[in-house]
Amino acid sequence: MAHDDYKEMLPALALSALDAEDALALHEHLSECNECRRELADWENTAASLALSASPAEPSPHVRTRIMNAVRSDKGARTQEASRVVPFPKNPRAVWTSFGQVGAIAAAVLFLVLIVWIFVLWQQNRALRRDMDSLMSEFRSVQEDARRSQEFLAILSSPGAKVAPLRGNGPGAGANAQLVYDSSGYAMLRANDLPPTPAGKEYQLWFIVGNNPPIPGGTFTPDDIGRAELTDRVPARALNSAVFAVTLEPTGGSRAPTSAVYLRSTL
Ligand SMILES: [Zn+2]
Repeated sequence: MAHDDYKEMLPALALSALDAEDALALHEHLSECNECRRELADWENTAASLALSASPAEPSPHVRTRIMNAVRSDKGARTQEASRVVPFPKNPRAVWTSFGQVGAIAAAVLFLVLIVWIFVLWQQNRALRRDMDSLMSEFRSVQEDARRSQEFLAILSSPGAKVAPLRGNGPGAGANAQLVYDSSGYAMLRANDLPPTPAGKEYQLWFIVGNNPPIPGGTFTPDDIGRAELTDRVPARALNSAVFAVTLEPTGGSRAPTSAVYLRSTL
């Protein structure tokens, strides 16, 4: 096969649409033909940019010109060939010659268009699925939010319920939280605008009664916008008069606070 034959196969190679035998022959030719290597890189860029765009893509003017030139120059070649006294021997390769050169190129272009079209549909389908997934996860997060608000309100509306506002402090300045608990000690903490936790760390709730050592509560990690919820149990001796505080502790929590206070309530 000649350089020109290989050149025609480059778009198909760029789209991985060449059969193994042709691909092998073409790779052999590529190892010794700079022009074909450059042209292949061009086609691969085109294929890659089509793969990246989710909306139907038209060929770039550059590619369109090349396709049109390929078809036109082939027409010219055929007219010349017809007037030649001694015709050149025909390429024996069935696939590329059985419909004539124009037919082969038209088929190649059509094939390319079909592959691109399938690609575009596949991309759109993927984009739709991504939209659907993100809508579903948004919906679930709203649902979860509503469920927590309901739980918070349920505790708040039970007889003897108390609410303690916690204010941001030190490294947690700017954060705020509310701890609501019922007369049995069932409690829910909702925090906003907490700084993100470094790896290996969690926030921990503490119950401080008088001058006694703080009693450890549960641990929690805020979401990516600094929101956090924690359900916990206020110890009986902290039910009537306690200060609630939040510190940053190693994952799993500490038995005594080891960091600055990020949030705290007042008595
Ligand atoms: Zn070549």
